[in-house]
Amino acid sequence: MLDLDRSTRQLLWRRLGEVIEGYWRDVPKLRAAPRLDRDALRALLARLDFETPLQPMEALELAAAGLREHQVHTPHPRYFGLFNPAPTAMGIVADALVAAFNPQMAAWSHSPLAAEIELHLARAFGSRFGWEPETTDGVFASGGAEANHTAVLTALVHAFPSFAEQGVRSLPRPPVLYTSSEAHHSFLKAARLCGLGTAAVRAIPADGALKLDVAALDERIAADRAAGFDPFLVVATLGTTGAGVLDPVTAIADVARREHLWLHADAAWGGAVALVPEMKEWLAGIERADSITIDAHKWLSVPMGAGLYLTRHPQILERTFSVAAGYMPKDAAGMPVVDPYAHSMQWSRRFIGLKVFLSLAVAGWDGYADVIRYMTTLGEGLRRRLATARWRVVNETPLPIACFVDTTSPEGDTMPYLEAIARDVVGSGSAWISTVRLGDRQPALRACITNYRTGLEDLDTLVAALGEARQRRRAGA
Ligand SMILES: *Cc1c(COP(=O)(O)O)cnc(C)c1O
Repeated sequence: MLDLDRSTRQLLWRRLGEVIEGYWRDVPKLRAAPRLDRDALRALLARLDFETPLQPMEALELAAAGLREHQVHTPHPRYFGLFNPAPTAMGIVADALVAAFNPQMAAWSHSPLAAEIELHLARAFGSRFGWEPETTDGVFASGGAEANHTAVLTALVHAFPSFAEQGVRSLPRPPVLYTSSEAHHSFLKAARLCGLGTAAVRAIPADGALKLDVAALDERIAADRAAGFDPFLVVATLGTTGAGVLDPVTAIADVARREHLWLHADAAWGGAVALVPEMKEWLAGIERADSITIDAHKWLSVPMGAGLYLTRHPQILERTFSVAAGYMPKDAAGMPVVDPYAHSMQWSRRFIGLKVFLSLAVAGWDGYADVIRYMTTLGEGLRRRLATARWRVVNETPLPIACFVDTTSPEGDTMPYLEAIARDVVGSGSAWISTVRLGDRQPALRACITNYRTGLEDLDTLVAALGEARQRRRAGA
């Protein structure tokens, strides 16, 4: 029953290919965002009680039609959203292969090719960030949140040798870590999951340009030491989630060295510019980080989820995650290899790296560099179009995110007004954008170029939709 017969399978594989290609072709014509109707979805699912089995093809069509209608289409060229990509063709192929071959990424000996591909990729990315491949280690994760959680854990193990065995309660002083107030909120979760508690995260107020304020960082570290806390980690964000701002990583690295703190660079989205020779300057200083997060499922456009944690401390992952388990395979005993499960908070694990490997193998570094350059240029085009249409861009970044307010209305920089504009644009189906609060204060509309298939005409459509939303508000008000 679970394997189906051969002719059904062949029809299914063929139809699956058609469905994927059909979606690829049609997605620009679909509404970017669905009409949200919870009751209709519950009614649809209520009919599926698993008492009467569906035909395989019927089940495939049901899922495909449902996904077509009921999701924000992140592969849509006018999805200007939260870093979610249009997946690469090779990434889709890779994920299908991984599902079929189902390599188990716990023990090296079970999936040696998969394990070696992931290490090869970690070293290749490490060298893009300026590290020596031989001393680079890394592990693929579900996403940036898990990679950042790994960073907090490895920093704890590095700073406090008793932490791995005795836990936080063995430490004489409460450990604290530093991020900017614009950092990703996964550090709050990580602090909670590590037993530190969210109060251990010191969110240093960002400066006027929304960058981590290094003088304020210095002061807070001194005050914390005086009050009996134990600073162990500082995070530099390279491409903040809200406004795409790059923290001054060199100055932060100087503080980290002086204060003996682990430096983590959260480059989940912005780290992709390391692939572009003339843009990697923007990350200068990242090579001094002890660990780096980059999400391949963001700007590298592979299907979700593909976080990557990198470190230039070759032993630290093992010291953080290794435990002895008598039932694990020993086929590679004596070989100088590490079992992935001893390097990760996951145990059984999907082969995450293949979608990155095949995408990169086919595009090459140059292919990726072209795409990242192109999307960055589109970002400039978007800022220009917004200015011409009298929206004021309020964030400063070379990366393709525009945060903007309306200069043509007295309420044009208030959250209720901007939310109404975003709702109108999203409701029209023509594009997806969102709102954000910068520095926890300034409300703004936010549009990010996330899709390598977005074109100049899509920018025109977005700006036109914004203009219409503005007109409708004026007419209604
Ligand atoms: C997206 C993001 C994360 C979280 O990554 P997930 O893949 O969503 O888990 C962490 N940090 C930054 C800067 C991000 O933009």
